[in-house]
Amino acid sequence: MNNDPAVRLQDYQVFGEFGDVNPSISDAATYTFLSVEKMQQLFSEEVEGCFLYSRHMSPMNHYLTQALAAIEGTEDANVMASGMGAISTCLLQLCGCGDEIVSSRTIYGGTYALFKNFFPKLGINTHFVNITKLDEVKSKINEKTKVIYCETISNPLLEIADIRELRKIADERGIKLVVDNTFSPMVVPAYELGANIVVYSLTKFINGTNDCVAGAVCGPHDFIASMRNVNDGAAMLLGPVLDSFRSASILKNLRTLHIRMKKHSENAMFIASELEKAGIKVFYPGLPSHPQHELIKSMINPKYGYSGMITIDAKDAETAGNLMICMQEAKVGYFAVSLGFYKTLFSSPGSSTSSEIPKEEQEAMGMTPGLVRFSMGLDNDIQDTLERILGCMKKVGLLK
Ligand code: PLP
Repeated sequence: MNNDPAVRLQDYQVFGEFGDVNPSISDAATYTFLSVEKMQQLFSEEVEGCFLYSRHMSPMNHYLTQALAAIEGTEDANVMASGMGAISTCLLQLCGCGDEIVSSRTIYGGTYALFKNFFPKLGINTHFVNITKLDEVKSKINEKTKVIYCETISNPLLEIADIRELRKIADERGIKLVVDNTFSPMVVPAYELGANIVVYSLTKFINGTNDCVAGAVCGPHDFIASMRNVNDGAAMLLGPVLDSFRSASILKNLRTLHIRMKKHSENAMFIASELEKAGIKVFYPGLPSHPQHELIKSMINPKYGYSGMITIDAKDAETAGNLMICMQEAKVGYFAVSLGFYKTLFSSPGSSTSSEIPKEEQEAMGMTPGLVRFSMGLDNDIQDTLERILGCMKKVGLLK
């Protein structure tokens, strides 16, 4: 297997019905059977090239899953109608009533709320830990634990999960390591490093055009097939299915992911270094000042940099708010949640993407009210962008 995810993706070729350079979109919810035996067979096992019903799998969703599996280096994948659809079905396939999850506490607010508020209604409880403290992770695992869950680069403090070491812990205890790699596709080969299962919000860098929500679960074929099982598969039975037309457009956008990731990373590295030089407190894994810089350096695919996410401390909520409004007016980017767009996006995590996390827990994890998270865009003149950002920082009193 080539160790460059972009080469593996490039080698994944599918033609359309007439030799089209893009695969044809199947515009159907259901498919005909040529015999009764075939129908019976398809309800009991998966047969390559045969489809029974689009909630189970459609040709276009199959192509997208194979392209994502090629990037991640997994045997297979499932695509879903959102990142949350991917995370919830994946976890519900692995856990049932009475089971427990040990999860990083610095995760996307929606995932946090799912684990903290929703899963307990189903009898699934979660222990939240500081994922950078491996002893703390170990201490929370007991005979009920089924999963260790984390984000490779966490939301929003950009802490790094040591995937290799976490996998060793998971193996020792006979449980699974599930990693959300949404912040670092191609940058961090999460599966190769040891994740048993990798989940993505495709909404972000992978699709890159901010025109849809979608998600994916990548992993071994047996697990992925179990999610689609007609009798007890969480994806099949809960049904967060991705529409084939949307799948087709994501597949086309995927073809430029390697170029976009390089540019997001290059721009983020430049802005992070310059802001740090200017005296701003910056969290960026590519900076030597990041507490886990050496760890992430040992995990990345160097060609793709350290990804496009930067968090800064703008001192207090009011200054952070003024800065974001000023930057939006100066056309640095948009004051909006989400990430992975051509345009820079910025938001204050404490009152947006992490607002589901109670204030006292935010404090305990070091999330101060003045944090501003940036998803750096694909700006062609990043020096010009820097000048606009510095201008706003002066205007709101963050810099002299
Ligand atoms: N995982 C991470 C790291 C995210 O940032 C998000 C959304 O912001 C999600 C998962 C959920 O994805 P979606 O919005 O596609 O459901």
